Amino acid sequence: MDHFIYRDGQLHAEDVPLAEIAAEVGTPFYCYSTATLTRHYRLFDEALAGMDHLVCYAMKAASNQAILRTLGDLGAGMDVVSGGEYLRARAAGVPGDRIVFSGVGKTRDEMQTALAGGIRQFNVESEPEMQVLSAVAKDMGKMAPITIRVNPDVDAKTHAKIATGKSENKFGIPISRAREVYALAASLPGLKVIGIDVHIGSQITELEPYRLAYEKVAELTEMLRAEGHEIKRLDLGGGLGIPYERSNEAPPLPTEYGALIKDTLGHLGCEIEIEPGRLVAGNAGIMVSKVIYVKSGEDREFLILDGAMNDLIRPAMYDAHHDIIPVAEPAAGVEQQPYDIVGPVCESGDTFAKQRMMAPLATGDLVAFRSAGAYGAVMSSEYNTRPLIPEVLVHEHQFAVIRPRPTFDEMINRDTIPPWL
Ligand SMILES: *Cc1c(COP(=O)(O)O)cnc(C)c1O
Repeated sequence: MDHFIYRDGQLHAEDVPLAEIAAEVGTPFYCYSTATLTRHYRLFDEALAGMDHLVCYAMKAASNQAILRTLGDLGAGMDVVSGGEYLRARAAGVPGDRIVFSGVGKTRDEMQTALAGGIRQFNVESEPEMQVLSAVAKDMGKMAPITIRVNPDVDAKTHAKIATGKSENKFGIPISRAREVYALAASLPGLKVIGIDVHIGSQITELEPYRLAYEKVAELTEMLRAEGHEIKRLDLGGGLGIPYERSNEAPPLPTEYGALIKDTLGHLGCEIEIEPGRLVAGNAGIMVSKVIYVKSGEDREFLILDGAMNDLIRPAMYDAHHDIIPVAEPAAGVEQQPYDIVGPVCESGDTFAKQRMMAPLATGDLVAFRSAGAYGAVMSSEYNTRPLIPEVLVHEHQFAVIRPRPTFDEMINRDTIPPWL
């Protein structure tokens, strides 16, 4: 559920007509709903009620500080995957003891940043990383709290680029080697082992892969405890999918996911962390774009928009579907027609949808890409010297630009010409 709805024939974000935002900030732009962000965070928080838990928002999904502040104020922790994300979360006011640090390639600098600023735990992914983290922590006179990310070798049944829990993926250590890797961790002076971490992928639309993974984590917890390790925290990753195509997708709900966690892991008495990103932010954001031209091809009509693959890369990168709807609600019963919906970038990959049925549109009309809140703005670029598009946050009847569109001068002046030219 989200808060982008038609009212009086106009698509609104909460109580604000999107046409009004477009008139003020120009198109294209991203727009997020505070009410939807809040609702999604609370669904997870409530799904784990009765267990000691922390919902750590995976901020790589949408990392604007206004979003982080909104969630942080509700009590959310953050899952960060770089030193930059760590600093951004702190700048947004999230305390270090609510931040977990994930990722396969943490550098010494990033470890130092997090240890100096305060960190809930590192989710360590390899033996070499463990050695380095121990050395860095020891040099700083600190103990780094860690979980070790295990790779449970389950098929998350999602797009290959976002599956992370199969043995061929680069993530975590094979669960079959957990005993020796935990023994090594326990022997390193700068590390304090506190738990287990697992994250099997993204846009997961069935519970079964989670069940398989979490059953393995439960078994591993008991095995490691028997070996004398203190396993008090289980970080279960993120990955729950969202319905991108509303007409025919119904992924599991956070309540069902929470029940599965209780069922598979509740008896262990561990503190539970989860790291949802997409489900918190995905349907809390849309991208609004304007039709520049309607172009007739040989056998099809092209809708050429002012938004492009550099603004929203998911269709080009993951063959992702986004529902695209007109901002002005079409009259009831109007006949739809097929369009190829494209952006202005000089690549055929700059195609958002092929033969998409839409009510007729004309130059100047606005359209909204639904479910664009996660992995949208954060993956955008200035390819073709197109400015990063603004982000706007709505709260009831108010809205604010939370990242302005850069001017061409700002963009161009970032380059420097070397002295020999
Ligand atoms: C990307 C990522 C997540 C979030 O995944 P979503 O599909 O956005 O929920 C959580 N944990 C880790 C370690 C990740 O890399």
